[in-house]
Order: sequence, then structure tokens, then C-alpha cells
Amino acid sequence: MSAEPVPVASLWEWQHEGLCRESNPEMFFHPEGERGPSRRWRDERAIAMCEQCPVLVQCREHALTVREPYGVWGGLTEQMREQIWAEQDNALSDPA
Ligand code: SF4
Repeated sequence: MSAEPVPVASLWEWQHEGLCRESNPEMFFHPEGERGPSRRWRDERAIAMCEQCPVLVQCREHALTVREPYGVWGGLTEQMREQIWAEQDNALSDPA
């Protein structure tokens, strides 16, 4: 861990360049109870926008680091992030 202080604003500057900034948040955050094809279709549209976004890497790193529980971030759905965290947790508990 670095002892160097990091300006807080710089941690968030990437968000000003996110393509989703001008879009409807409902595209990235599913409504209560949404399931099946509707959810898949909405997630796919959000992911397609993320794939064109200039700050995808920063957004994805942020979401994975702070363990964002909801929404599509950096081209990853909630389920995709949960899978990555589970694999990371397993690797940490079983380093063999
Ligand atoms: S990667 Fe996706 S969620 Fe992240 S800022 Fe870009 S468009 Fe928004």
C-alpha cells in the first residue's frame, strides 16, 4: 500500500468522460423485480455502450475495487462482478 496521499478528485475524474453520463440511469440499473429477457436485453444495451466508452478500464477497476453491488459498471453486470469476486476470494483462501 502506498503512503502517498492521492487527491480524492482525481479518483473520480474519469466519470466525467463516461458515455453513460448523458444516458438514462435505468439502462444501467435494473428496476425492482426485473428478470429474464428484459433484464438481459437492458444489460446487453448497457454493456454495448460501455464497450464504446473511453473510461471502461477505470470504471471497471473502480467497480471491482469498491465492490459496487448494483448496476452495470465497466461492461460488467452484477452477476459478472460477483463471479470475479468469488474467484478472487477463492484464490486468496486457496493459494495452491
Ligand atoms: S464504462 Fe459503462 S458504466 Fe462505466 S462510465 Fe463508461 S458507459 Fe458508464
